[in-house]
Amino acid sequence: MKALVYHGTKDVSVDIVPDAKIEKPTDVVVRITTTNICGSDLHMYEGRTNVEKGTVLGHENLGQVEEVGNAVDTVQVGDYVCLPFNIGCGFCANCERGLTGFCLTCAAPGSAGAAYGFAGMGPYSGGQAEYLRVPYADFNCLQLPPDVKEKENDYVMLSDIFPTGWHATELAGIKPGDSVVIYGAGPVGLMAGISANIRGASKVMIVDRHSDRLSLAEQIGAVAIDDSKGDAVEKVLALTEGIGADCGCEAVGYQCQDHHGHEVPNLTMNNLVKSVKATGGIGVVGVFLPKDPGASDVMAKKGQVAFDFGSFWIKGQKIGTGQANVKAYNRKLRDLITAGKAKPSIIISHELPLDQAPAAYKNFDERKNGWTKVILKPAA
Ligand code: NAD
Ligand code: ZN
Repeated sequence: MKALVYHGTKDVSVDIVPDAKIEKPTDVVVRITTTNICGSDLHMYEGRTNVEKGTVLGHENLGQVEEVGNAVDTVQVGDYVCLPFNIGCGFCANCERGLTGFCLTCAAPGSAGAAYGFAGMGPYSGGQAEYLRVPYADFNCLQLPPDVKEKENDYVMLSDIFPTGWHATELAGIKPGDSVVIYGAGPVGLMAGISANIRGASKVMIVDRHSDRLSLAEQIGAVAIDDSKGDAVEKVLALTEGIGADCGCEAVGYQCQDHHGHEVPNLTMNNLVKSVKATGGIGVVGVFLPKDPGASDVMAKKGQVAFDFGSFWIKGQKIGTGQANVKAYNRKLRDLITAGKAKPSIIISHELPLDQAPAAYKNFDERKNGWTKVILKPAA
C-alpha cells in the first residue's frame, strides 16, 4: 500500500510499504478515506522528536472498515468509523476512568499513552496511508451516522483536534459566562475557541501572528489578537478590565516563538500566568517534551522551561496538562456535528490526494499564508 513515510528532518515521501493487516483478533483494518496533517506531525517532521526513521505518520484518521478480526463484536465491514488518535485498551486502570490518552496496555513499557504514527507512543503505524490497523477495535472505533459522506470533513476532526480543543477548555474549567484567552490560532487553538463558544464563554480571545489564522478566529466569533502588533498580555488585560481572563488555554507547545520567529519555550506559559486572573484555570494541550535535544536553549534541551511559578502560586491559579482523552468527548462532539451545532471543517484550507502530502507538509510547516489545515484523501 501507499503511505507517507518519515525519513529524517523535513524528509518525508509517499512510498510503497507492507499492507496493514489484522495482527490480533481484536483488530480491524480500515481503508482510510480522510487523514489530516497535524501540528504534532510538524514536531516530528522538523526532527524535534525521537520518532524512528521509516515510521508511517498520521494520527487523525477516518475511513471505512475493510476487514474485521474474529474477536470484534460491534464493528462490521463497511462501517464508517473515526479513530481517536490515542489508542486505548478500554480495560486498564486509566482507560477505565476515561483517561484513554494514558492507556497502560497499549503504551510502550514504563510509559502511558499510545497513538498511531507518533514519537514515543508505541509501535503503531500511522494512517496517512491507504489502510490502517486499528487495535481493540470495539473500543476505539467511533461509529459515524449515515450523513458521513456529506460531513466527512467535519467528522474527521473528531480524531484529534476537536476533542483536543475541547480538552483544553475542560482542563481550564471554562463555565458559562467566562472570558477565555487562547494562545495559538492553529487548528487546535481554533477548536478550543469553538469549544469555548459551545461551553458558553462570554468572550474568547485568540492570540497569534498569522493573519489567515487570526481571520478564522474572527470567523468563529473570537477577538483576534495579533501579537506582532503589540503586547498580547496588555491587550488581554485591557479587554478584561485589568483583571485577566477567567481561563486560559495553551495551544502552541514547546516550539512556541516570539513574533520574530525565535523559539522562546517559556513564552506562552508565562503569558498565560500574566493574562489569566488570580484563581483562574489554565489548560495546556500544546505539546511539551521531557527532552528536546534539538533546542537551542540549554534548559529546553532537558525538557525544562523557566516557568514563573512564583506568580502562578501567588495568583492561586490551577493548571491541567497532557494529551487529550479523545474517547471521553468524541461521541458527544460527533452528535453536535450531526445536529448541525458544530462545524469544525471551517478551518480546512487544503484537501489533497496522498501523493501531494510531502509538499503539503512543507507548506504547512512554513505556516505559509492560507495553509490553515490540510486533509488528505488516500482513497481518492
Ligand atoms: P500549529 O503549529 O498549526 O499551530 C500553532 C500556532 O501557534 C501557529 O499558528 C503559530 O503561529 C502560533 N504561535 C507560535 N508561537 C506563538 C506564541 N508565542 N503566541 C501565540 N501563538 C503562537 O499546531 P496545531 O495543530 O494547532 O497544534 C498546536 C499544539 O497542540 C501543538 O503543540 C500540537 O502538537 C499540540 N497537540 C496536542 C494534542 C493533545 O492531545 N494534547 C493534540 C493535538 C495537537
Ligand atoms: Zn493531531
